[in-house]
Amino acid sequence: MSIPSVSGEEETVGFWLRDYLQSLGWTVELQPVTDTQNNVIAYLNETPRVWLSTHMDTVPPFIAPSEDEEKIYGRGSCDAKGIIAAQIVAAELLRKEGIEDIGLLYTVEEERASTGAKVANLHPLAAKCEYLINGEPTDNELAIGSKGAFRAMIRTTGKAAHSAYPEQGDSAIEKLLDILDDVRHTRFPNDEFFGETTVNIATLDGGVALNVIPPNAEAGILIRLTTPMEPIRDALLNVIRDRGELELLSYSLPVKMLAVEGFKQKVVRFTTDIPHLTNWGQPLLLGPGSILVAHTKDEFVLKKDLEDAVGLYVELVRRLLTTEGTENTEI
Ligand SMILES: [Zn+2]
Repeated sequence: MSIPSVSGEEETVGFWLRDYLQSLGWTVELQPVTDTQNNVIAYLNETPRVWLSTHMDTVPPFIAPSEDEEKIYGRGSCDAKGIIAAQIVAAELLRKEGIEDIGLLYTVEEERASTGAKVANLHPLAAKCEYLINGEPTDNELAIGSKGAFRAMIRTTGKAAHSAYPEQGDSAIEKLLDILDDVRHTRFPNDEFFGETTVNIATLDGGVALNVIPPNAEAGILIRLTTPMEPIRDALLNVIRDRGELELLSYSLPVKMLAVEGFKQKVVRFTTDIPHLTNWGQPLLLGPGSILVAHTKDEFVLKKDLEDAVGLYVELVRRLLTTEGTENTEI
Protein backbone atom coordinates (compact mmCIF):
# COMPACT_ATOMS: atom_id res chain seq x y z
CA MET A 1 0.00 0.00 0.00
CA SER A 2 2.95 2.36 0.50
CA ILE A 3 3.81 2.02 -3.21
CA PRO A 4 1.47 4.38 -5.12
CA SER A 5 -0.28 2.65 -8.04
CA VAL A 6 -2.96 4.94 -9.39
CA SER A 7 -4.18 3.54 -12.74
CA GLY A 8 -1.41 4.01 -15.31
CA GLU A 9 1.33 3.92 -12.65
CA GLU A 10 1.32 0.26 -11.61
CA GLU A 11 4.83 -0.65 -12.80
CA THR A 12 6.60 -0.39 -9.43
CA VAL A 13 3.97 -2.26 -7.45
CA GLY A 14 3.99 -4.98 -10.14
CA PHE A 15 7.75 -5.38 -9.76
CA TRP A 16 7.35 -5.55 -5.98
CA LEU A 17 4.66 -8.24 -6.23
CA ARG A 18 6.77 -10.26 -8.69
CA ASP A 19 9.79 -10.15 -6.37
CA TYR A 20 7.69 -11.00 -3.32
CA LEU A 21 5.96 -13.97 -4.93
CA GLN A 22 9.23 -15.23 -6.38
CA SER A 23 10.77 -15.08 -2.90
CA LEU A 24 7.94 -17.39 -1.75
CA GLY A 25 8.78 -19.82 -4.55
CA TRP A 26 6.08 -18.97 -7.11
CA THR A 27 6.74 -18.95 -10.85
CA VAL A 28 5.93 -15.37 -11.85
CA GLU A 29 5.35 -13.81 -15.27
CA LEU A 30 4.98 -10.13 -16.00
CA GLN A 31 2.55 -9.79 -18.89
CA PRO A 32 3.08 -6.45 -20.69
CA VAL A 33 -0.03 -4.34 -21.17
CA THR A 34 1.72 -1.08 -22.11
CA ASP A 35 5.38 0.01 -21.96
CA THR A 36 5.08 0.72 -18.24
CA GLN A 37 2.23 -1.56 -17.14
CA ASN A 38 2.33 -5.31 -16.55
CA ASN A 39 -0.16 -7.83 -15.25
CA VAL A 40 1.35 -10.17 -12.64
CA ILE A 41 0.65 -13.85 -13.28
CA ALA A 42 1.91 -16.38 -10.73
CA TYR A 43 1.45 -20.12 -10.36
CA LEU A 44 2.76 -23.20 -8.62
CA ASN A 45 2.12 -25.90 -11.23
CA GLU A 46 1.89 -25.61 -15.01
CA THR A 47 -1.90 -25.71 -15.38
CA PRO A 48 -3.76 -24.36 -12.35
CA ARG A 49 -7.51 -25.03 -12.35
CA VAL A 50 -8.43 -22.35 -9.82
CA TRP A 51 -7.16 -18.78 -9.90
CA LEU A 52 -7.46 -15.93 -7.42
CA SER A 53 -7.43 -12.48 -8.98
CA THR A 54 -7.96 -8.77 -8.44
CA HIS A 55 -6.36 -5.52 -9.58
CA MET A 56 -3.21 -3.64 -8.53
CA ASP A 57 -4.31 -0.16 -9.58
CA THR A 58 -6.21 2.29 -7.40
CA VAL A 59 -8.27 5.40 -7.98
CA PRO A 60 -6.50 8.75 -7.31
CA PRO A 61 -5.28 10.32 -5.14
CA PHE A 62 -2.68 8.17 -3.39
CA ILE A 63 -3.34 8.06 0.38
CA ALA A 64 -0.49 6.65 2.48
CA PRO A 65 -1.36 3.65 4.66
CA SER A 66 -1.88 3.78 8.42
CA GLU A 67 -3.46 1.47 10.97
CA ASP A 68 -4.90 1.09 14.44
CA GLU A 69 -5.93 -1.97 16.43
CA GLU A 70 -9.00 -2.59 14.32
CA LYS A 71 -8.49 -1.15 10.84
CA ILE A 72 -6.05 -0.48 8.03
CA TYR A 73 -6.57 2.91 6.36
CA GLY A 74 -5.38 4.41 3.10
CA ARG A 75 -5.69 3.96 -0.65
CA GLY A 76 -6.05 0.36 -1.67
CA SER A 77 -6.72 -0.92 1.85
CA CYS A 78 -10.17 -1.99 0.75
CA ASP A 79 -9.95 -1.73 -3.05
CA ALA A 80 -7.99 -3.90 -3.66
CA LYS A 81 -4.55 -4.32 -2.03
CA GLY A 82 -6.01 -5.80 1.16
CA ILE A 83 -7.60 -8.38 -1.12
CA ILE A 84 -4.27 -9.18 -2.79
CA ALA A 85 -2.76 -9.78 0.66
CA ALA A 86 -5.66 -12.01 1.78
CA GLN A 87 -5.44 -14.04 -1.44
CA ILE A 88 -1.69 -14.59 -1.16
CA VAL A 89 -2.03 -15.70 2.48
CA ALA A 90 -4.87 -18.05 1.48
CA ALA A 91 -2.83 -19.47 -1.40
CA GLU A 92 0.14 -20.06 0.90
CA LEU A 93 -2.09 -21.88 3.41
CA LEU A 94 -3.47 -24.11 0.64
CA ARG A 95 0.05 -24.77 -0.52
CA LYS A 96 0.99 -25.95 2.97
CA GLU A 97 -1.86 -28.50 2.65
CA GLY A 98 -0.29 -29.70 -0.58
CA ILE A 99 -2.78 -27.94 -2.89
CA GLU A 100 -0.80 -26.49 -5.76
CA ASP A 101 -3.56 -26.30 -8.37
CA ILE A 102 -3.82 -22.53 -7.90
CA GLY A 103 -2.73 -19.38 -9.67
CA LEU A 104 -2.70 -15.65 -8.91
CA LEU A 105 -3.65 -13.00 -11.45
CA TYR A 106 -3.19 -9.30 -10.67
CA THR A 107 -4.22 -6.82 -13.34
CA VAL A 108 -3.63 -3.16 -14.18
CA GLU A 109 -6.18 -0.52 -15.22
CA GLU A 110 -9.26 -2.11 -13.63
CA GLU A 111 -10.37 1.27 -12.34
CA ARG A 112 -10.44 2.71 -15.87
CA ALA A 113 -11.30 0.41 -18.76
CA SER A 114 -10.01 -3.02 -17.60
CA THR A 115 -7.25 -2.86 -20.23
CA GLY A 116 -5.14 -5.22 -18.11
CA ALA A 117 -7.94 -7.79 -17.95
CA LYS A 118 -8.48 -7.58 -21.72
CA VAL A 119 -4.81 -8.43 -22.28
CA ALA A 120 -4.86 -11.11 -19.54
CA ASN A 121 -7.75 -12.74 -21.37
CA LEU A 122 -5.33 -13.63 -24.19
CA HIS A 123 -2.90 -15.47 -21.89
CA PRO A 124 -2.51 -19.18 -22.77
CA LEU A 125 -3.07 -20.30 -19.15
CA ALA A 126 -6.62 -18.91 -19.27
CA ALA A 127 -7.78 -21.92 -21.28
CA LYS A 128 -6.66 -24.28 -18.48
CA CYS A 129 -8.43 -22.31 -15.76
CA GLU A 130 -11.76 -23.73 -14.58
CA TYR A 131 -12.68 -21.22 -11.86
CA LEU A 132 -11.64 -17.62 -11.41
CA ILE A 133 -12.25 -16.18 -7.94
CA ASN A 134 -12.12 -12.43 -8.46
CA GLY A 135 -11.73 -10.21 -5.42
CA GLU A 136 -13.57 -6.93 -4.96
CA PRO A 137 -15.11 -5.55 -1.75
CA THR A 138 -18.30 -7.60 -1.26
CA ASP A 139 -18.32 -7.61 2.56
CA ASN A 140 -17.05 -11.18 2.31
CA GLU A 141 -20.28 -12.34 0.69
CA LEU A 142 -20.33 -14.27 -2.56
CA ALA A 143 -21.59 -11.96 -5.30
CA ILE A 144 -23.73 -13.96 -7.70
CA GLY A 145 -24.39 -10.99 -9.97
CA SER A 146 -22.70 -7.70 -10.78
CA LYS A 147 -24.00 -4.79 -12.81
CA GLY A 148 -22.22 -3.70 -15.98
CA ALA A 149 -21.03 -0.21 -16.86
CA PHE A 150 -21.65 1.96 -19.92
CA ARG A 151 -19.23 4.89 -20.28
CA ALA A 152 -19.94 7.60 -22.82
CA MET A 153 -19.51 11.26 -23.74
CA ILE A 154 -22.34 13.46 -24.96
CA ARG A 155 -21.05 16.32 -27.12
CA THR A 156 -22.82 19.37 -28.48
CA THR A 157 -21.59 22.01 -30.86
CA GLY A 158 -22.87 25.54 -31.40
CA LYS A 159 -21.64 28.74 -32.88
CA ALA A 160 -19.40 31.23 -31.07
CA ALA A 161 -20.48 34.88 -31.00
CA HIS A 162 -20.02 37.98 -28.86
CA SER A 163 -22.21 37.37 -25.82
CA ALA A 164 -23.80 40.83 -26.19
CA TYR A 165 -25.26 39.60 -29.50
CA PRO A 166 -26.52 36.11 -28.60
CA GLU A 167 -28.77 35.98 -31.64
CA GLN A 168 -25.57 35.76 -33.73
CA GLY A 169 -24.51 32.57 -31.97
CA ASP A 170 -25.79 29.19 -30.85
CA SER A 171 -25.00 27.97 -27.32
CA ALA A 172 -23.60 24.45 -27.10
CA ILE A 173 -23.94 24.56 -23.30
CA GLU A 174 -27.66 25.32 -23.39
CA LYS A 175 -28.18 22.45 -25.83
CA LEU A 176 -26.21 20.13 -23.57
CA LEU A 177 -28.19 21.19 -20.48
CA ASP A 178 -31.44 20.41 -22.30
CA ILE A 179 -30.16 16.98 -23.28
CA LEU A 180 -28.91 16.24 -19.76
CA ASP A 181 -32.23 17.28 -18.26
CA ASP A 182 -33.93 14.81 -20.58
CA VAL A 183 -31.41 12.12 -19.60
CA ARG A 184 -32.25 12.74 -15.93
CA HIS A 185 -35.92 12.19 -16.64
CA THR A 186 -35.50 9.12 -18.83
CA ARG A 187 -36.65 5.79 -17.44
CA PHE A 188 -34.08 3.29 -18.64
CA PRO A 189 -35.01 -0.41 -18.71
CA ASN A 190 -34.27 -2.35 -15.50
CA ASP A 191 -33.80 -6.04 -14.75
CA GLU A 192 -35.43 -8.10 -12.04
CA PHE A 193 -32.27 -9.99 -11.09
CA PHE A 194 -29.72 -7.17 -11.40
CA GLY A 195 -31.95 -4.32 -10.19
CA GLU A 196 -32.15 -0.72 -11.29
CA THR A 197 -30.23 0.89 -14.15
CA THR A 198 -28.72 4.08 -12.69
CA VAL A 199 -27.11 7.08 -14.38
CA ASN A 200 -24.29 9.31 -13.17
CA ILE A 201 -23.75 12.55 -15.09
CA ALA A 202 -20.14 12.62 -13.99
CA THR A 203 -18.24 15.37 -15.80
CA LEU A 204 -19.12 18.65 -17.54
CA ASP A 205 -16.93 20.78 -19.74
CA GLY A 206 -17.53 23.53 -22.27
CA GLY A 207 -17.31 27.15 -23.27
CA VAL A 208 -14.32 29.42 -23.80
CA ALA A 209 -14.88 32.72 -21.93
CA LEU A 210 -17.56 34.64 -20.03
CA ASN A 211 -18.23 36.97 -22.94
CA VAL A 212 -18.44 34.33 -25.67
CA ILE A 213 -21.47 32.23 -26.62
CA PRO A 214 -20.09 28.69 -26.05
CA PRO A 215 -19.33 26.86 -29.30
CA ASN A 216 -18.82 23.45 -27.66
CA ALA A 217 -19.71 21.43 -24.58
CA GLU A 218 -19.47 17.85 -23.38
CA ALA A 219 -20.62 15.68 -20.52
CA GLY A 220 -19.27 12.32 -19.38
CA ILE A 221 -21.81 9.79 -18.15
CA LEU A 222 -21.58 6.36 -16.58
CA ILE A 223 -24.63 4.13 -16.55
CA ARG A 224 -24.74 1.02 -14.32
CA LEU A 225 -26.02 -1.58 -16.77
CA THR A 226 -28.56 -4.21 -15.78
CA THR A 227 -29.50 -5.11 -19.36
CA PRO A 228 -27.63 -5.63 -22.61
CA MET A 229 -25.89 -2.50 -23.89
CA GLU A 230 -28.05 -1.85 -26.96
CA PRO A 231 -31.36 -0.76 -25.35
CA ILE A 232 -29.48 1.75 -23.20
CA ARG A 233 -27.50 3.14 -26.13
CA ASP A 234 -30.68 3.38 -28.22
CA ALA A 235 -32.55 5.15 -25.41
CA LEU A 236 -29.72 7.69 -25.15
CA LEU A 237 -29.63 8.25 -28.91
CA ASN A 238 -33.38 8.75 -28.78
CA VAL A 239 -32.99 11.40 -26.08
CA ILE A 240 -30.12 13.21 -27.82
CA ARG A 241 -31.68 13.10 -31.31
CA ASP A 242 -30.01 15.65 -33.61
CA ARG A 243 -29.02 17.97 -30.76
CA GLY A 244 -25.64 16.35 -30.11
CA GLU A 245 -23.46 13.30 -30.49
CA LEU A 246 -22.94 10.21 -28.38
CA GLU A 247 -19.47 8.67 -28.16
CA LEU A 248 -19.39 5.26 -26.48
CA LEU A 249 -16.07 5.04 -24.60
CA SER A 250 -16.37 1.49 -23.28
CA TYR A 251 -18.86 -0.85 -21.71
CA SER A 252 -19.03 -4.06 -19.73
CA LEU A 253 -22.11 -6.23 -19.40
CA PRO A 254 -23.83 -7.39 -16.23
CA VAL A 255 -22.60 -10.84 -15.25
CA LYS A 256 -24.10 -13.74 -13.31
CA MET A 257 -21.53 -15.65 -11.30
CA LEU A 258 -21.25 -19.04 -9.72
CA ALA A 259 -23.30 -19.64 -6.59
CA VAL A 260 -21.73 -22.00 -4.07
CA GLU A 261 -23.82 -23.50 -1.30
CA GLY A 262 -23.01 -22.44 2.23
CA PHE A 263 -21.75 -18.97 1.28
CA LYS A 264 -23.82 -15.81 1.87
CA GLN A 265 -24.89 -14.44 -1.51
CA LYS A 266 -25.87 -11.12 -3.03
CA VAL A 267 -25.96 -9.00 -6.19
CA VAL A 268 -23.52 -6.07 -6.32
CA ARG A 269 -24.01 -2.86 -8.26
CA PHE A 270 -20.45 -2.25 -9.39
CA THR A 271 -18.56 -3.80 -12.27
CA THR A 272 -15.27 -5.68 -12.14
CA ASP A 273 -12.63 -7.19 -14.44
CA ILE A 274 -14.82 -10.31 -14.78
CA PRO A 275 -16.69 -9.30 -17.98
CA HIS A 276 -13.28 -9.04 -19.69
CA LEU A 277 -11.88 -12.33 -18.34
CA THR A 278 -14.24 -14.55 -20.31
CA ASN A 279 -11.54 -17.13 -21.15
CA TRP A 280 -10.70 -17.71 -17.48
CA GLY A 281 -13.36 -20.29 -16.67
CA GLN A 282 -16.37 -19.85 -14.43
CA PRO A 283 -16.21 -16.56 -12.47
CA LEU A 284 -16.85 -16.07 -8.75
CA LEU A 285 -16.64 -12.80 -6.85
CA LEU A 286 -15.83 -12.36 -3.17
CA GLY A 287 -13.70 -10.00 -1.13
CA PRO A 288 -13.32 -8.31 2.26
CA GLY A 289 -14.32 -4.71 2.87
CA SER A 290 -17.19 -2.50 1.82
CA ILE A 291 -17.56 -0.94 -1.61
CA LEU A 292 -19.11 2.05 0.19
CA VAL A 293 -15.69 3.15 1.51
CA ALA A 294 -13.76 2.24 -1.65
CA HIS A 295 -12.85 5.31 -3.74
CA THR A 296 -13.34 7.64 -0.73
CA LYS A 297 -10.74 9.58 1.25
CA ASP A 298 -11.68 7.50 4.31
CA GLU A 299 -11.02 4.12 2.65
CA PHE A 300 -10.31 1.38 5.19
CA VAL A 301 -10.64 -2.33 5.76
CA LEU A 302 -11.24 -4.16 9.03
CA LYS A 303 -8.36 -6.46 9.97
CA LYS A 304 -10.92 -9.03 11.03
CA ASP A 305 -12.51 -8.94 7.56
CA LEU A 306 -9.11 -9.59 5.98
CA GLU A 307 -8.60 -12.59 8.25
CA ASP A 308 -12.08 -13.89 7.52
CA ALA A 309 -11.44 -13.48 3.80
CA VAL A 310 -8.38 -15.73 4.05
CA GLY A 311 -10.57 -18.50 5.48
CA LEU A 312 -13.27 -17.94 2.87
CA TYR A 313 -10.80 -18.07 -0.04
CA VAL A 314 -9.24 -21.25 1.34
CA GLU A 315 -12.67 -22.87 1.73
CA LEU A 316 -13.83 -21.72 -1.70
CA VAL A 317 -10.75 -23.10 -3.46
CA ARG A 318 -11.05 -26.44 -1.64
CA ARG A 319 -14.73 -26.67 -2.61
CA LEU A 320 -14.09 -25.78 -6.25
CA LEU A 321 -11.32 -28.33 -6.55
CA THR A 322 -13.52 -31.08 -5.13
CA THR A 323 -17.17 -30.34 -6.05
CA GLU A 324 -19.21 -28.53 -8.66
CA GLY A 325 -21.08 -25.29 -7.97
CA THR A 326 -24.86 -25.30 -7.73
CA GLU A 327 -25.54 -23.00 -10.66
CA ASN A 328 -23.83 -22.32 -13.93
CA THR A 329 -25.18 -19.08 -15.34
CA GLU A 330 -23.85 -16.20 -17.32
CA ILE A 331 -25.46 -13.71 -19.64
ZN1 LIG B 1 -11.70 -2.68 -7.18
